[in-house]
Amino acid sequence: MNYYNQEVETMHHDKLKLLQLDRIRLVVKKVYDNVEPYREKMRAIGIRPADINDLSDIEHLPFTEKQDLRDNYPLGMLSVPNSEIVRVHTSSGTTGQRSAVGYTQADLDAWADVMARSLVAGGCTKDSIVHNAYGYGLFTGGLGANNGSERLGAMTLPVSGGNTSQQLQLLKDFKADTICCTPSYALYLADEMKKQGYDIKDLALKRGIMGAEPWTEEMRQEIEKRLGLKAYNIFGLSEIMGPGVAMECSQQNGMHIWEDHFLPEIIDPKTKKVLPNGSQGELVLSNLTKTGMPLLRYRTRDITSLDDTACPCRRTHIKMNPLVGRSDDMLIISGANVYPSQIESVLLSSELADYIEPHYLIVVDRENNRDRMEVKVEVKEEMVGASEAIANRIRHNVTSATGISAKITLTPPNTIQRSQGKAVRVMDNRKNGANGINGVHEKEGG
Ligand code: AMP
Ligand code: ZN
Repeated sequence: MNYYNQEVETMHHDKLKLLQLDRIRLVVKKVYDNVEPYREKMRAIGIRPADINDLSDIEHLPFTEKQDLRDNYPLGMLSVPNSEIVRVHTSSGTTGQRSAVGYTQADLDAWADVMARSLVAGGCTKDSIVHNAYGYGLFTGGLGANNGSERLGAMTLPVSGGNTSQQLQLLKDFKADTICCTPSYALYLADEMKKQGYDIKDLALKRGIMGAEPWTEEMRQEIEKRLGLKAYNIFGLSEIMGPGVAMECSQQNGMHIWEDHFLPEIIDPKTKKVLPNGSQGELVLSNLTKTGMPLLRYRTRDITSLDDTACPCRRTHIKMNPLVGRSDDMLIISGANVYPSQIESVLLSSELADYIEPHYLIVVDRENNRDRMEVKVEVKEEMVGASEAIANRIRHNVTSATGISAKITLTPPNTIQRSQGKAVRVMDNRKNGANGINGVHEKEGG
């Protein structure tokens, strides 16, 4: 079994908890002393740093919302003077205005460490050749994966997103065994590979380190089949760090959250009460080691659950299950809650695998005061024309999974827009509809 930092990754959980307590107390004091918005929030609820004596006390700390970062844009939540900051990233702005994050050199070092740890959990070693197709720039994916790969000592190709012909050529020339990219880009690459006459054997890929957007188990299997590799889920967000906050191990069954750096909680998004491990709710993360802009109880809007059962890999850090989606992505259709991932699971199920391609778009409208959902999905070349029975089958399965009767539109291959970064799978045209969110927006990340 391979670890990047065995002592920390397999540390007894009780010891890890003590370490977390020491660290969160320092962070609380630091933000109270240095960050006006935090001091105000804590004063308003009458809590002082000295009140945190047990990990359960963090329930009394204030949350940090995306809006707090927007209100203090660009760098009003730093814990250090601007002169200590050596790098700035921003979030993708998928749900509105961007927020910015400042990193000290110590933060970049810690980030490279957790990212290196993540790559090793996914099977990389210093002998790996890593083709990094995450976008470089303000998005954290590119530089985050890059610096972790270099920290590990792997041969790193900083390819960034786009120019897929060149990517295929590079994959062939350098024989990378590892690719870092979004799952939707992996699919796109597989398509192009076929179109441009490459064979899986021209490439030497063994593993993909894939994240930055929700994807289902069905999507994983599709990607693994098409690219002939093992696809591992990696999670991160710029507000907290970037990629490498959590990563799957060889079990491919939940992502270990690196608990010496990040403290996770799951809350009920409505009551904001902490839920026991295993319950599904909103992931809340606190930074334990960040120095530039540590956040307390950051509400990620990501919906998942925590799994504290022992992992055969012997890592002791708690796992988070694959994201169901973001609460912002949840559609409310005629009063029912639907996540795009539920529809993806139906479309990519083995039952339909012979008929349709894994490319889809969910369109929501409001007509005559009623919500209407349409699922557009590509059929396989050989199925064009013979599609009514397939559409009926999809309609039936979507209704069983979501309780909603959707219009199914089958489109010819290559008609749904591909993504080179984070995929956009939902178009919600309801202007002042049920939830009023989710209009079409530009996403970065490729
Ligand atoms: P950004 O800060 O712009 O990189 O976006 C971070 C967000 O991307 C997270 O809060 C999640 O919503 C999403 N994300 C990142 N990694 C994953 C993943 N492995 N699975 C699902 N969603 C992810
Ligand atoms: Zn494990």
